Amino acid sequence: MKVLIVGAGVAGPTLAYWLLRTGHEPTLVERAPRLREGGYVVDFWGAGFDVAERMGIVPRLREEGYRFREAREVSGSGRRIAHFDPVSVIEGAAAGRYVTVGRSELARAIYDAIGGEAETIFGDAVDSMADDGGRVRVRFTSGTEREFDLVVGADGLHSRVRDLAFGPEQDYERYLGITVAAFDLDGYRPRDELVAVMHTEVGAQTLRIALRDGATLFCCTFRHDGDVPVDDVPAQQALLRERLRGIGWEVPGILEQLLQARTFYMDRASQIRMPSWSRGRVALVGDAAAAPSLLAGQGSALAMAEAYTLACALHETGGDHRAAFAASHARLATLVRTKQDAAAGLGSAFAPRNRTQLLMRNAVFGLLSIPLVARLSMGRSLRDPVELPPVPTG
Ligand SMILES: Cc1cc2nc3c(=O)[nH]c(=O)nc-3n(C[C@H](O)[C@H](O)[C@H](O)COP(=O)(O)OP(=O)(O)OC[C@H]3O[C@@H](n4cnc5c(N)ncnc54)[C@H](O)[C@@H]3O)c2cc1C
Repeated sequence: MKVLIVGAGVAGPTLAYWLLRTGHEPTLVERAPRLREGGYVVDFWGAGFDVAERMGIVPRLREEGYRFREAREVSGSGRRIAHFDPVSVIEGAAAGRYVTVGRSELARAIYDAIGGEAETIFGDAVDSMADDGGRVRVRFTSGTEREFDLVVGADGLHSRVRDLAFGPEQDYERYLGITVAAFDLDGYRPRDELVAVMHTEVGAQTLRIALRDGATLFCCTFRHDGDVPVDDVPAQQALLRERLRGIGWEVPGILEQLLQARTFYMDRASQIRMPSWSRGRVALVGDAAAAPSLLAGQGSALAMAEAYTLACALHETGGDHRAAFAASHARLATLVRTKQDAAAGLGSAFAPRNRTQLLMRNAVFGLLSIPLVARLSMGRSLRDPVELPPVPTG
């Protein structure tokens, strides 16, 4: 089948890889002129890790990834107030099947695994679609028109495919009240190699991680009830400055350097909750279908699991798209909902609403330095109670 995949982030190229492996003809269309760079580091385990392993990219992810020796909470003056060793806790619970890697590196590794075998169109997007039951006629913003057997929206949280096929975002989005900014700076000091240093106050958290090549990655999460500007980095940076005004630690110095950021990403921490991920010949995967939000720490891994499962289902059903869409939704819907429900309650860890929440958060963080407590509290969330379909053959 000819399958148009809209979006070359994490879910889209994963789906293209597995569709190629099962004899289909995927075309990727990506709005950006090239693969998008930037974003935070991704903790990668569970079903997503299994899919990456089946794609043969785990050695590369390990090589390009990081093994943090400490997660450290500091006070406004920079004094360490709590800490734990994330690698031993998480690797123990995930039995070594775990890697922390930059989002860009993950996306690039997946895309490279396709080996140039899928047609990829950069700098274009879907403008409109018409599903006549037998084919989907797509009009691109460039004016080109083409027909496909299936269209899959892998175009992220603000999916255009979802808008066109299922209706407006507000019908499916659940905003968790927290906005996320991730950006990197060259030559920032101090570095604290392989330590994730964070400072949390009421309403906001700032986290800093030293990357390779002299770069430093920052992730800020803050409570925000208003709109978040879309595709407008100066307006996003102005919002970040306003929301972090008055915060201690290194934050004023970090904000002063914002204009020099190499990459800058900002979005709402939102979930997408839909009763079904398909309509006719159009389906959704990844954030477009079921974003769990940054707070879940699982968006990329789930996106890969969804893409893999969809491709396997199309193979198993001999291309019966209705049966395949229903089967992949049935296999993953419970896992996704469990992750979403868990993440919805994690806001106080990233941006406590008040002083009581802040103190409780810091106390819990401190307890994680006790290995048994850490294993008990994090162990369950590090295992995905789902069985992936076997690697498709033939
Ligand atoms: C640059 C970037 C940085 C990110 N940083 C973070 C972060 O710091 N923290 C976090 O929690 N999540 C971040 N995310 C989201 C994270 O990548 C996803 O939650 C997760 O990987 C699921 O992947 P996905 O493929 O479903 O969506 P995404 O990775 O968001 O990929 C969607 C892709 O679709 C493209 N696209 C969007 N609209 C269209 C359109 N109309 N036509 C064609 N293409 C389109 C986008 O450019 C993007 O490449 C980031 C996403 C991007 C693109």
